[in-house]
Amino acid sequence: MGGFFQRLRESFARFMVGRYGSDQLSRFTMLLAFVMLILNMIFRSRTSVFYWLVWVFLIITYFRMFSKNKQKRYNENTRFLQLKEKVLGRFRGRKGPTGDSVRDSYQYYQNAYNNARNDNSGGSGTMRSDKEHRIFRCPNCDQRVRVPRGRGKIEITCPRCGHKFIKRS
Ligand SMILES: [Zn+2]
Repeated sequence: MGGFFQRLRESFARFMVGRYGSDQLSRFTMLLAFVMLILNMIFRSRTSVFYWLVWVFLIITYFRMFSKNKQKRYNENTRFLQLKEKVLGRFRGRKGPTGDSVRDSYQYYQNAYNNARNDNSGGSGTMRSDKEHRIFRCPNCDQRVRVPRGRGKIEITCPRCGHKFIKRS
């Protein structure tokens, strides 16, 4: 029995070679499929729309996981994360003590400050790409983040706003 599952795992691993795999967006579409499943159970007698939506979200999820066009899937996930931040940011802005305009102006000055600091001197302590490091900008707040090169696809947590995003280092 153990050998069977071992072989199953190995053949699945072989199948996934060169394919995109799961990300935040596929976990989200999977969650939507699950939500539609629940709604389908509740409203089964009245409409079949939730039944079809279960399939739609399942197909989207697996199409993306098994896709070999990694760049395209990666871009979709990035857009999803940006949209999510925007929606959550708006939600937080309404609920929290600081509104969007306050946050935006803070980011504006922070970015201006960072840009001035980064572009001015070539001395040590400034953030620049080199053989060992790469610089990415946080898609949420535009903060520059320096990460070590050659670690493959990594999840980066922005040191300023805590936003998580995926980049190839
Ligand atoms: Zn950030």
